[in-house]
Amino acid sequence: RLQLEDVRKSFGQTEVLDGVSLHVQEGEFVSILGPSGAGKSTIFRLLTGAERADGGAIHMNGAPLEGRNRNMAFMPQRDALMPWRSILDNVTLGLEVQGMTRKAARAKVTPLLAEFGLAGFENHYPAQLSGGMRQRAALLRTVVQERNMLLLDEPFGALDALTRTSMQRWLEVMWKRHRWTALLITHDVREAVFLSDRIYVLSARPARVLHEFHVPLPRPRDGSAR
Ligand code: ATP
Ligand code: MG
Repeated sequence: RLQLEDVRKSFGQTEVLDGVSLHVQEGEFVSILGPSGAGKSTIFRLLTGAERADGGAIHMNGAPLEGRNRNMAFMPQRDALMPWRSILDNVTLGLEVQGMTRKAARAKVTPLLAEFGLAGFENHYPAQLSGGMRQRAALLRTVVQERNMLLLDEPFGALDALTRTSMQRWLEVMWKRHRWTALLITHDVREAVFLSDRIYVLSARPARVLHEFHVPLPRPRDGSAR
């Protein structure tokens, strides 16, 4: 269980997180919605250790989240792929960082390339792919790591509507099969409702949690005035 309690963060004079409290249970899929610039990606940067909170607490299974091995697989919002590595070498990167040999990592990801529409592009470089293909490669790299928690920052932002829907379905199927614990940042309300158990809605910057919804959302009661 991941728990953020009254987390605060400023960059210089710019207050970004104004006491954010949220939690993710094991096996739960939670989404964060909020306006652009609210501070959503900043929350992920605190979780991965790229930034430090100014106040509040972040706990994983009751212990403060610190150190390098956070057992999280992170898909950043942009620049996820290394331009000088081939698609295959980008996809295996997370596994190699975990200590897997390149050979074993390639054997693991190769059967999945077709499922992600990347078959035949193994030896291409990121600049030779469309934005959507790059996002699929980044998503594949993230999910094959089999970490305890997935952090997905707008993973489908660059996809066309059709590919987006198919990737959402794929993620749902995979999530149900593996019972991943996932925290998703998205601007797409329908995507959040489709994929999540719970949704947090943040205010504009400085971010606070405005609402917390359980999915399925409550429906208007029968007989309500219309
Ligand atoms: P979007 O939906 O557009 O991705 P976001 O909610 O992810 O937005 P963040 O990327 O978390 O927003 O940024 C929140 C605010 O913090 C912005 O005003 C941004 O300019 C500022 N900010 C983020 N990182 C830094 C940094 N390293 N230095 C200074 N300001 C920063
Ligand atoms: Mg962002």
